[in-house]
Amino acid sequence: MNTPRLTDTQRLELFEPLFASTRAELERLADRDPRVLWALRRKLTKELIYLERGSPQTRNALKRRKMRSQNGLCAICRQTLPPSGAELDRGDAFLGYTDDNTRLVHHGCHVADQRRKNYG
Ligand SMILES: [Zn+2]
Repeated sequence: MNTPRLTDTQRLELFEPLFASTRAELERLADRDPRVLWALRRKLTKELIYLERGSPQTRNALKRRKMRSQNGLCAICRQTLPPSGAELDRGDAFLGYTDDNTRLVHHGCHVADQRRKNYG
């Protein structure tokens, strides 16, 4: 898996201004209320995670479709998957959680596969 990373230039020219303006906007919107600032940061964090990973409902629906299309078998070891706790493995992380870019696997198979990819 090749996960895209920002270059030093992109980090400097794209990310740092984005982060600085986001932080300033949070402060401005909170208007010195630490409770509002905390809640805004927390909500923004959650929504950013959903942008990258999809909502829990979307991912659960995808898991159900993959469970059916894989006939209940792990895409790595081909053994039966448990009714809950199976994990979605993305082919390319930046392509997201789509039917074409994911496979359903055991947690243990997922961890071992990622370890193999990272150290292989
Ligand atoms: Zn497995």
